Amino acid sequence: MLQDSDRIFTNIYGMHDRSLKGAERRGHWDGTDKILQNGRDWIIDQMKASGLRGRGGAGFPTGIKWSFMPKESDGRPAFLVVNADESEPGTCKDREIMRHDPHTLIEGCLIASFAIGAHACYIYIRGEYIREREALQNAIDEAYEAGKLGPNAAGSGWAFDLYLHHGAGAYICGEETALLESLEGRKGMPRMRPPFPAGTGLYGCPTTVNNVESIAVVPTILRRGPEWFTTFGRPNNAGTKIFGISGHVNNPCVVEESMSIPFEELIEKHCGGIRGGWDNLLAVIPGGSSTPCVRGEFMRDAVMDYDYLKTELKSGFGTAAVIVMDKQTDIVKAIWRLSKFYKHESCGQCSPCREGTGWMMRVMERLVTGQAEIEEIDMLLDVTKQVEGHTICGLGDAAAWPIQSLIRNFRDEIEDRIKGRKRYAVS
Ligand code: SF4
Repeated sequence: MLQDSDRIFTNIYGMHDRSLKGAERRGHWDGTDKILQNGRDWIIDQMKASGLRGRGGAGFPTGIKWSFMPKESDGRPAFLVVNADESEPGTCKDREIMRHDPHTLIEGCLIASFAIGAHACYIYIRGEYIREREALQNAIDEAYEAGKLGPNAAGSGWAFDLYLHHGAGAYICGEETALLESLEGRKGMPRMRPPFPAGTGLYGCPTTVNNVESIAVVPTILRRGPEWFTTFGRPNNAGTKIFGISGHVNNPCVVEESMSIPFEELIEKHCGGIRGGWDNLLAVIPGGSSTPCVRGEFMRDAVMDYDYLKTELKSGFGTAAVIVMDKQTDIVKAIWRLSKFYKHESCGQCSPCREGTGWMMRVMERLVTGQAEIEEIDMLLDVTKQVEGHTICGLGDAAAWPIQSLIRNFRDEIEDRIKGRKRYAVS
């Protein structure tokens, strides 16, 4: 289990003082100017060496992403945009950072912006996070008053402004290019890529978009060194990670742990076990609603990191939002509910997603009650394949994967329901 002394987030439960003074007492904002004096290349090299992979779900290496930004400005400004939209069902980790430990994020924004040559950063926070926005804005105001932000940020000589922008509550604005559209004042609709944000992003300028947690861990990594960070987790899956465990465990919680922690240890140590015991575990969605569900018996020995969940279990680590379902769950209905969510959140811009999500949801609806034919299971699977990979953004995949995993893992359950309905109808 991760030691307290190795936890990056020292106030995740809000038990301590979240103000600037409290944050400084816990070691934040310590020597920020000296970190910046090492220069952009040093910071990016350190981040590459740390092996940090983006915590927003995609798992792309953060240091490499930063290195895509232009070294010399062609006259256009550069921007850092922090994705605090956190709207994926099951995911609730960034909110704990923003409301209880906001200075980890603010300090990270300064350092990351400096590393990519940006004098301004926008944090885009989801519409429903009102208290989180207030807490974060208070912390930003405090940081300005103390000179941590502004024309000579933290005494480094780097001019830096940080803006907090409140979204209106659309899931699709968590997609990075839809987020940029929304930030520019338009409807949150994903853009075609290329061009990628590092070349043409916010207001047509070079932009890096990073998740809250990815940015908030940066100062501690640079203070303690990339070697320290790589002592946690398996190779290529380094570091500590905030897990959000919900559903049928005895004690649902958000906790910072070591990457690659075994699933059983995570659940036993922090969640008090599965409701009704391990034999009562039906399925787990390991990384937020868009990652494929896995049968309970395969999860017990699972290693919680990007590579294991992808290669061994055909699922994904996502945002480490672990949704646990016990045998009292109607799994077909649970996945139907996700289909309904994705149908509702589709921006409607491309037809496979606009039409496909509605179509999939309607068939799922009939599978829940058994009012379908057996042949429709494969027909549904076929439609998910036509949506997957044929859309502008990842929402199409996110809608297809839960259904594919349901059919892969629980086809017998779906068939039983259809057969049972027919038997009942005959008798
Ligand atoms: Fe919009 Fe869906 Fe197309 Fe994404 S995949 S751009 S959400 S219609």
